[in-house]
Amino acid sequence: MPKCLDCDADINLKADVETGEIVDCPDCGTEFEVRSLEPVKLDHAPQEEEDWGE
Ligand SMILES: [Zn+2]
Repeated sequence: MPKCLDCDADINLKADVETGEIVDCPDCGTEFEVRSLEPVKLDHAPQEEEDWGE
């Protein structure tokens, strides 16, 4: 079972989860992207920044 990179809570993945899917931590709400399966690797989901940096 993968753990949240931020708060170490267990993250439940659906049985049919696919690579690239976005899951969120039930504890802190941080979104993660499923980078690989077997073994499951999560990484922070790309954030849509409000700052457009003009
Ligand atoms: Zn968390």
